[in-house]
Amino acid sequence: MWLIKKDTLQMIMEASKDSYPREFGALLRAEDNVIYEIALVPGTIQSDRYTLFYMYSKPIDFSLVGSVHSHPSGITKPSDEDLRMFSLTGKIHIIVGYPYNLKDYSAYDRSGNKVPLEIIGD
Ligand SMILES: [Zn+2]
Repeated sequence: MWLIKKDTLQMIMEASKDSYPREFGALLRAEDNVIYEIALVPGTIQSDRYTLFYMYSKPIDFSLVGSVHSHPSGITKPSDEDLRMFSLTGKIHIIVGYPYNLKDYSAYDRSGNKVPLEIIGD
């Protein structure tokens, strides 16, 4: 069971709105299955899914548990490229969809199976 802090999810939605109509992507940091922070890698183009893929092949620290990226189409289903990226590493992968309200997200494991992700905090 995964949890995400409400303010972290809000930050993801705001960043996704800022990036629209491009994709936004970042890595997720968690402690005890609670996602509490997103990690941006300096010098990368956040809208480029292949950059995200590259970041994944070189993990920066072990508190990074997965990834998040936005789908400007509004459909929060992983693409074939997403599934390849998920399978490389990371236990939890979030896709958020336009219009990026707090409930516009889905979470997946590294095999692409949908997993529950609950929001905690105010
Ligand atoms: Zn995607």
